Amino acid sequence: MKIMVSACLAGENCKYNGGNNRNDRVAALSAGNEVLAVCPEVMGGLPTPRVPCEIRNGTVVRKAGVSCDREYRLGAQRCLEIAMREKPDMIVLQSRSPSCGVKQRYDGTFTGKLVDAPGVTAQLLMEHGFRVVDVEDL
Ligand code: SF4
Repeated sequence: MKIMVSACLAGENCKYNGGNNRNDRVAALSAGNEVLAVCPEVMGGLPTPRVPCEIRNGTVVRKAGVSCDREYRLGAQRCLEIAMREKPDMIVLQSRSPSCGVKQRYDGTFTGKLVDAPGVTAQLLMEHGFRVVDVEDL
């Protein structure tokens, strides 16, 4: 089986704060399978560490309102291109991220509130018919 995963779940230090979200269930699933680790925010050209962003009124912005939409959309597009080329059987993404969140994301107020909507990469991959799973549902 070929699996695409959020790179932070595979232990890469690509989170906005320079850390990772290494996940034992992802590690177990990865054993014996082909794994494609992607970080859409890094692939969109953003540095690590980086200023956190959320989606507000359909645009990805920093708390002060500066747009980072272009980088987020570019990273999503690059992930889609990899998925179209590699055809993973399953894509496992980190919860609540403005890029990778599958079921929920933060609401754009930077107050920790969540909305039931995906991040930009998860949304794009789902729109193209890929099987996208929130890591918390593994
Ligand atoms: S963009 Fe996705 S892969 Fe990259 S750090 Fe955020 S949740 Fe992890």
